[in-house]
Amino acid sequence: MSPVIDLRSDTVTRPSAAMRAAMMAAPVGDDVFGDDPSVIALQEKLAAMLGFESALFVASGTQSNLCAILSHCQRGDEYIVGQMAHCYRWEGGGAAVFGSVQPQPLEHQSDGTIALEHIAAAIKPDDAHFAQTRLLALENTLGGKLIPLDYIVQATDLAKSRGLQTHLDGARLFNAATAQAAQTGTDVYCEARRIASAFDSVSVCLSKGLGAPVGSVLCGTHALIARAHRLRKMAGGGMRQAGILAAAGSYALDHNLTRLANDHALAKRLAAGLGDIPGLVVEPPHSNIVFVDLTGPALQRSKSLIDHLKSHDILATGLYRLRFVTHLDVSADDIERTIDTVRDFFGG
Ligand SMILES: *Cc1c(COP(=O)(O)O)cnc(C)c1O
Repeated sequence: MSPVIDLRSDTVTRPSAAMRAAMMAAPVGDDVFGDDPSVIALQEKLAAMLGFESALFVASGTQSNLCAILSHCQRGDEYIVGQMAHCYRWEGGGAAVFGSVQPQPLEHQSDGTIALEHIAAAIKPDDAHFAQTRLLALENTLGGKLIPLDYIVQATDLAKSRGLQTHLDGARLFNAATAQAAQTGTDVYCEARRIASAFDSVSVCLSKGLGAPVGSVLCGTHALIARAHRLRKMAGGGMRQAGILAAAGSYALDHNLTRLANDHALAKRLAAGLGDIPGLVVEPPHSNIVFVDLTGPALQRSKSLIDHLKSHDILATGLYRLRFVTHLDVSADDIERTIDTVRDFFGG
């Protein structure tokens, strides 16, 4: 492990020796011909885990959301989405650029949900003035927040009752499921399936907390995945001996799900440690992402705090609101060192 404590994102994880061994040993074929056994195995594994008919291995979460939105919507249709949702705000407007699909972004409430009345009001009547509302896209976790399951059921029921399709950007679905399992006392597999079952399609990132180097998987019906497969080709996402990458994803699903609870525990410890430092306001984290707001005199020193951390080989993102993300390359000692380094900076 590198001596740098990299808390910028859970995307920075590097494949472990055992994951690399699984990649080395992976049987491969040509996935554009549809005969890469490791890709097929990964797709079948995740589809079965989440209770879907079919799944598609794609290059990234962005490509997955793009293929999903364009599979659900035609040109001139629209999708309802949160202002802070990745598939609205952070994907270069791809659905509009490549698919001529119009987003209808709505404000989030403080818990990350979108008010049901706002969703209902944003669904356009069948009138030539309006784009046709086809899809509700939610995200879980959203900014590290677990979106309550009863809300998800209500929102997707509302969407279905109005004839909309539903998509979950579950880049961190398994973090959401881990947080939910801590509340219900079941396990990550059970809760992932419960969350996923509310949606027509679900996208999951393998390259974040799960620790794989590359890739996401989109799950849905056979018909939806057939459309997504065509779109993936158009997006330049047909990959050949992709089994080398898919094997890392399968390894992650087999070995790295139950350990997400460690990342959440470390995030809680980091939040508690930083929250004790005057001038820092820390929301208790639901999962593996800790946001720290600097207030009062600390605010003036935010830039130098980031530089101070960097000079101690600790990386985080943000400026007035710092973001720390725990993952499988972060240890309990790393978290203590981070807390101590921040405390020293503020002279405590
Ligand atoms: C990271 C992320 C994505 C996109 O994944 P990339 O692989 O970086 O394209 C999509 N949605 C959410 C919620 C994410 O966190």
